[in-house]
Amino acid sequence: MANQKIQLKSVNGNKLQYASWGCGEMDRFFTQKTCDRCGAELKVRRMSRFNTDVLCPACIEEERMHPDYEKAAAAELEAVRRGDMNFPGIGWPGKNGRVR
Ligand SMILES: [Zn+2]
Repeated sequence: MANQKIQLKSVNGNKLQYASWGCGEMDRFFTQKTCDRCGAELKVRRMSRFNTDVLCPACIEEERMHPDYEKAAAAELEAVRRGDMNFPGIGWPGKNGRVR
């Protein structure tokens, strides 16, 4: 019984989070079939830290290696802190590009 209560609570929490994220992006995140960046079929999906692209694991790994990854992650965290759940990201400069 106690476990059930905790589960219910977390489900409600997630729903609230999705609602405040912006329904459009959330829908796209779940229905998108291919990677926004390389076009690979999405078996595992992640949201880009640089923009709102839905990415495959290979492209996420590429972002992690990017010299501006820390900057993108920090900007996203800062946006969440000030309550901006629709932050579009600092923009993906390309694998060999730099964020200005
Ligand atoms: Zn990809």
